Amino acid sequence: MAKVTFLGLGVMGYPMAGHIAAAGHEVTVYNRTTAKAEAWVAQHGGSIATTPAAAAADSDVVLSCVGDDPDVLQVALGSDGAIPAMKSGALYIDNSTVSAAVATQLAAAGADRGIGVLDAPVSGGQAGAENGKLTVMVGGSMSDFESGLPIMECYGARVVRMGDAGKGQQAKMVNQICIAGLVQGLSEGLHFAMAAGLDTDALLEAISGGAAQSWQMVNRGHTMVKGEFDFGFALDWMRKDLRICLEEAGRKGAPLPVTEIVAGYYDELSAAGHGRNDTSALIRRLSQS
Ligand code: NAP
Repeated sequence: MAKVTFLGLGVMGYPMAGHIAAAGHEVTVYNRTTAKAEAWVAQHGGSIATTPAAAAADSDVVLSCVGDDPDVLQVALGSDGAIPAMKSGALYIDNSTVSAAVATQLAAAGADRGIGVLDAPVSGGQAGAENGKLTVMVGGSMSDFESGLPIMECYGARVVRMGDAGKGQQAKMVNQICIAGLVQGLSEGLHFAMAAGLDTDALLEAISGGAAQSWQMVNRGHTMVKGEFDFGFALDWMRKDLRICLEEAGRKGAPLPVTEIVAGYYDELSAAGHGRNDTSALIRRLSQS
């Protein structure tokens, strides 16, 4: 069993860290808002540290699941950041969805100190985190991947190495590009169904078994029809993800015309005060028009 540190006990990190503890590892947690760390330790045992550096100093594996590029840079490399405090030979795994540039920056900082680094963004949402069935897309060396695999398998049903540093983040970008257009298409289909007076329960039962089937349709179709969005993957996080995708696509010369339009729709919803709504709230725009 390893000494493991988890930084960031949000919607995703809290249950992910819980699965690592349930597997028998000795877990130290850090959360910027201490109350969440106290609640986690009350539920799972382990210990609390008051800075990422203090949490990471004695650990074999340090994981983070925070927010955007500046947040990862702060917990990993900031003044009280984890990587400068970690012991040589330890492994840092970042589960946040951030830019490939941050992933390679962390990998370089780790290499300078003999610390392995993996970018390991996840897909599967709050439910996937809670039931320990996330998909994990990993960038980093094969040997670091192999040493981190037993920890990532605590919360991941599918853990796939995509290549060297940054490739996990690029794979996650593809995931988000695919979802953006799909959720807009699903929104249009369901809004049309309601306008046409169709029985949406019967409709979803029928088409979720056919070629239009998707995770979004199965897991979000009914709540979209009911106008329920107060759960799931906050669309403000999706705006961050699509910004990262569009910036990377610009550098690679890959056009993302639909993604760009949908990113604008999410901006509108956020400006209207719906930033914490699930990404399926795209249908709200159609209902208002
Ligand atoms: P969340 O519920 O908002 O939690 C974010 C966590 O990061 C909190 O523990 C927060 O601390 C901490 N944090 C943020 N900025 C920080 C900083 N500068 N310094 C220290 N701690 C900081 O977010 P989440 O939904 O768990 O998402 C976390 C990451 O996973 C994001 O990159 C997101 O894109 C990705 N992700 C999310 C989902 C999803 O369905 N939610 C799915 C896949 C991937 P406080 O408690 O103090 O705020």
